[in-house]
Amino acid sequence: MEPVWEYAPAPESRDIAGAKPSYRMFVDGQFVEGAGEPLKSINPATEEVLTEVSTASPSDVDNAVKAARRAYDKTWRKMPGNERAKYIFRIARMIAERARELAVLESLDNGKPIKESRDADIPTASAHFFYHAGWADKLEYAGLGADPKPIGVAGQIIPWNFPLLMAAWKIAPALACGNTVVLKPAETTPLTALVLAEICQQAELPPGVVNILPGAGDVGAELVNHEQVDKIAFTGSTEVGKLIQRSLAGKGKKLTLELGGKAANVVFDDAPLDQAVEGIVNGIFFNQGHVCCAGSRLLVQESVAEELLDKLRKRISTLRLGDPLDKNTDIGAINSAEQLAKIRELTAAGEAEGASRWTSPCPVPERGFFFAPTIFADVQQSMRIAREEIFGPVLSVLTFRTPDEAVSKANNTPYGLSAGVWTEKGSRILWLAGKMRAGVVWANTFNRFDPTAPFGGYQESGFGREGGRTGLEAYLDE
Ligand code: NAP
Ligand code: MG
Repeated sequence: MEPVWEYAPAPESRDIAGAKPSYRMFVDGQFVEGAGEPLKSINPATEEVLTEVSTASPSDVDNAVKAARRAYDKTWRKMPGNERAKYIFRIARMIAERARELAVLESLDNGKPIKESRDADIPTASAHFFYHAGWADKLEYAGLGADPKPIGVAGQIIPWNFPLLMAAWKIAPALACGNTVVLKPAETTPLTALVLAEICQQAELPPGVVNILPGAGDVGAELVNHEQVDKIAFTGSTEVGKLIQRSLAGKGKKLTLELGGKAANVVFDDAPLDQAVEGIVNGIFFNQGHVCCAGSRLLVQESVAEELLDKLRKRISTLRLGDPLDKNTDIGAINSAEQLAKIRELTAAGEAEGASRWTSPCPVPERGFFFAPTIFADVQQSMRIAREEIFGPVLSVLTFRTPDEAVSKANNTPYGLSAGVWTEKGSRILWLAGKMRAGVVWANTFNRFDPTAPFGGYQESGFGREGGRTGLEAYLDE
């Protein structure tokens, strides 16, 4: 489809991100050099090295955990909730004050479009601190016992798809409940977590309450296996989640796992199709499809399948792919060469297994890691693209005839994180939501996040909830 008009470039200035030539780890309230091999964080949209980041060795992990333990015993655990709340409120406000800087840095390090980091990631991260600050002095009213107690030191490991937001999801409830934290950001996106460390320092959070240790998977494993860590909160792949669960078996540590997904987005023939198209696009192309709860399986009622696919292809052809810092960009860069290779492998498997591929004709930059939005029609349930998480801008389309068939296809997955339903009938929404084995079911919308709403999975999508009153449970002792 010919564009209706041309857009002039509208790039956000990268100067405001203030990316430094090097970053250090944050332990016991100080930025210190780690003894691990430094890592280079790159800008996936250009493949240039952004900065060098020092990483943690096993003894750095030990120091950080001990600092967190001291902070827990000496200050944080004993501090009244209304005092803890002041620090958490301060962090929330400082994130909001530095929102533009954080948004640009996030887009540089991760590749996501600036309009998403600016309008979704950073404000929601700040909102998580605000929300949990409000809980810190009200825990006895959370319905989790008359005098709920913190657990101790929380080891937290997060992925690269929402770097600052995942750090906020982890740190805010832990602090509100009186725990201290050692957090490992993902290897490819450590920068905004280190700015958050700076914010903790400027907020005069007592030393050791939050520690940030960049590094690769081995730093995560070291943290998981440290004897003085009382709780592990992990967000990432099902594969690593299983490893962690195995290594903690029988050790009596608390564990929550937020893992992968393969969500069904179910469209009935009475759905408002134009609205559904927007929801489907948001469901799978938001954040390049690097979303655990992405609506990656579209289940559409056979009678409207052709019409819907036609509308979808037209709409997707208008999505603009390219420079993440351009305010008109809808789809940014794939986060890493490895992830791009994984997306290519799975889409090749889709073609080999006989699904019909359509790829948006949008121009794709020569440098950087990019993948044009793609739809597979004629997908069968047995195909890899219907079963495995692609974690990229690729939608698999299946059809159904009856509501019962929709439910059985939707639930035919080892995962169970989220789902969507599009219909005009309220009764059908409630019926389907009750039958869906998924932690979140969105009705006539998709990918809505709010700190007050619990989020988490069934089956291989993990266990435990983050957000809302329920999310506090994961950081309080029973
Ligand atoms: P990943 O490979 O599992 O990595 C997640 C984190 O674990 C990273 O910080 C990683 O370090 C670290 N890690 C790797 N090996 C480890 C080990 N043996 N022990 C401890 N930590 C280890 O996942 P990813 O590829 O970064 O992220 C994508 C996955 O996360 C997808 O499957 C997605 O669905 C899932 N996800 C789930 C949610 C949710 O809420 N359910 C949210 C976002 C993402 P490195 O960075 O160095 O590899
Ligand atoms: Mg990077």
